[in-house]
Amino acid sequence: MKKNKYIIAANWKMNPGTIEEARALMQSYRRLAKRFEHIDYRVCVPSVFIYPCASVEGGVSVYAQNMYHEDAGSYTGAISLSMIESVGAGGVLIGHSERRNLFGVNDEIVERKITKALEHDTPMIVCFGEESRDESGEYTDVLKKQLVHILEPFVSSRKIKLLTLAYEPVWAIGDGADRAVTQDELFSTAILIRNTLVQVLGEGRGSKVPVLYGGSVNEHNAQALAATPNIQGFLIGRASLDKDSIKEISETI
Ligand code: PEP
Repeated sequence: MKKNKYIIAANWKMNPGTIEEARALMQSYRRLAKRFEHIDYRVCVPSVFIYPCASVEGGVSVYAQNMYHEDAGSYTGAISLSMIESVGAGGVLIGHSERRNLFGVNDEIVERKITKALEHDTPMIVCFGEESRDESGEYTDVLKKQLVHILEPFVSSRKIKLLTLAYEPVWAIGDGADRAVTQDELFSTAILIRNTLVQVLGEGRGSKVPVLYGGSVNEHNAQALAATPNIQGFLIGRASLDKDSIKEISETI
């Protein structure tokens, strides 16, 4: 049986500053993809860089970081799925916590984006995660609720292969974060996620959806976190902008 590749999804966020830097960084990913054939690299770039990045030859998928949930119309500043696909995007990131917290994206909008991506047969990485962890464990209800929303459009769909999930605890993401999850925290959360997937989608489909971990992954913690059962890859923000960090992380996988 063909073994699935380990997924490294990079989220460049609103970086780098110029097209020249974007092209150079993408070249580094192409070189890594050649060297580490067991890794499936997916790079989520700002929409203006999709075309130039997708034009760099090599085995890396270029993803959009966002899309609007309508196909066309009077939505000034919005970008549709057909637009990003026509310039070379191979998939889309949906529901990142920065979109949820800074741009008003809620569970309902996430569901509409997923439905649109399903209509277009577009691969998607859908993010979810708790804002904070309480001692009494109520965050587990928050996670289950978010997951049930995300999975709703897949219940009656045959297109589960389009879905990759990214578990990203908000407290561990981005500039304000001071640490990643611990191995123990990730171990138990990954079981909760897998059990919810199986409950909602059934054993056959629920056991196959890849789940990524995201939040302060770097070259120092990647090896330990990658050993977690039920986790099939990483979604990496800050460290994904540094070609040496990504190379070192790739070496630990
Ligand atoms: C992210 O933006 O998805 C992310 C995980 O960021 P960071 O790795 O910088 O915490």
